[in-house]
Amino acid sequence: MTAADGASPAVPEPLRAAVAALAASAVVVVALDFDGTLAHLADDPQAVAPVPSATTALRALAADDGVVLALVSGRPAGELARLAEPPPGTSLVGSHGAETGRVTAPGVAVLDDAVLTAGESTLHERLAGALAGIAEGRTGVWVEHKPVGLALHTRLAAPDDAEAATQEALAGPAAWPGTHALHGKDVVEISVRRVSKGEALTRLRDAVTEETGRPVPVLYAGDDVTDERAFAALRPGDVSIKVGAGETLATFRVPDPEALAVVLGDLAAARASA
Ligand SMILES: [Mg+2]
Repeated sequence: MTAADGASPAVPEPLRAAVAALAASAVVVVALDFDGTLAHLADDPQAVAPVPSATTALRALAADDGVVLALVSGRPAGELARLAEPPPGTSLVGSHGAETGRVTAPGVAVLDDAVLTAGESTLHERLAGALAGIAEGRTGVWVEHKPVGLALHTRLAAPDDAEAATQEALAGPAAWPGTHALHGKDVVEISVRRVSKGEALTRLRDAVTEETGRPVPVLYAGDDVTDERAFAALRPGDVSIKVGAGETLATFRVPDPEALAVVLGDLAAARASA
């Protein structure tokens, strides 16, 4: 379909062409961020849900044996499964790659263990104390505990408080030896283990390549700074899609989760009719 025959004008024609080419591959990895990509952002991170058309598209992709579907998120993997409710069989990459798992039933995941070393555990506790100190007395600034790190959230804070807390975190605990920081939208995430969506995506591709015995193209879509690591890990023949505004390494851009859902639905439809 083209914009001329009534399809969403929000999906650029070159992206449609790239998706059509990708659809012809016997096996395809479709790896997607969740927040801001399949779902709109919300003030309460526990109230985030995928847009209905994205849920429909994920189901169609999951029904295709040649599609390896994965969600790649900064959220803990179990929470990702609960909120995104991806179809059974979906691979989960949580905590920016520190956790992996697989969806076994809607909203339910079996997770591989992410066990901290004694050193990582000690550092995790120190980080928790430091970030609690930064959040204290600043309304709307709060700390989320994750399996291999912590996140300082500032979305609900007044701009001055958000900026001050962010700068304190970046200049302080984010700079400690052994910590790894990611500065995303209204959040500073600090991990005690080096993780990135790029490394996670490469591991996923390598595993699928080993299984199929041939190179497998990847479609990756994301909306935030942390997704840039994944875009940077892509190769010629892959399809990279930035959702929303902002500088990006991605080749293509769509405005919102609804437009991405159109792209995913097109991919599923093209493969089904091939
Ligand atoms: Mg996101």
